[in-house]
This record gives sequence, C-alpha cells and structure tokens, in this order.
Amino acid sequence: MIRKPSRSLSRTTKIRFAVRSGPSGIEGTGVFADAPIPGRTKIGEVTGELISIRTARKRAREGCRLCLIDVSDARALDCTGGNVLRHLNHSCRSNAFLRIMHERVEVYARRAIRSGEEITVDYGESPHSGGMKCRCGDPACRDRI
Ligand SMILES: [Zn+2]
Repeated sequence: MIRKPSRSLSRTTKIRFAVRSGPSGIEGTGVFADAPIPGRTKIGEVTGELISIRTARKRAREGCRLCLIDVSDARALDCTGGNVLRHLNHSCRSNAFLRIMHERVEVYARRAIRSGEEITVDYGESPHSGGMKCRCGDPACRDRI
C-alpha cells in the first residue's frame, strides 16, 4: 500500500508551524513556538531514521532523551539526525503530546500554545527509554520520567 504524503507538510522538515530550538528553563535545549499554535492541531512530525528495536537498544546506551522512540513492536525511530522536534522536553503538565501512527511520531498541540512558549510533551505517555529524573518544576511533577 502506498501512503499519500500529506501536502501541508514540508517534506524536509515536516513541521507545520514556526518553531525553533533554544535554551530551556526545564533542561538543556527545548523547542519553542515562534507563532501561536491553535489547540488540538498537528504541529508536525519528529523525523529520523527507522531502525530495528535491537539496534535501538544498543544505541540507547548512549543515553539521549527523545532520540529513540519505539514506533512499533519491531522498529524504533532514531531522531538524532532528525528535525528540531527531537529537542522536545518532557513536562508533567505538557502542552503537546506525541502520537505514534504507522511508525511515524506525530506531535499535536494539547491546547493553544502562545508564541514564545516552550512546547513540551509527556514522555510517560509514549514508549521511550526512560529512567530519567524530571526537572519540569510543575507542582504536579511525578519526579521521574
Ligand atoms: Zn515533572
């Protein structure tokens, strides 16, 4: 079956809104909205290299945050060389979320996001290589991701 590429997405970046990476108050580098993003809309897709779960487990030892995402029982997405959405930080009160569809990792706004606001997702809602300490600072923080 051939899937039609979505016309609204740029083939190279696969991001539909103006976003940028920058220093984050949560941790390291984060992703920020450069323009308002309406709630419940698709922000874009995290791009990367589709690899086997076995390869992903080996690479996981290098230990980066959103670099390896399980997208099916057989495969994972290595976002190391992917677009800026690989820098999405975790927050226990995130304003966006990940949805795994057909071995793709899509990012959706949970609510309206203001220009300049950091875009965050809840890693706990999707498969990831976890065991990290959370620094989101939210009163409802679960402490570990
Ligand atoms: Zn937290």
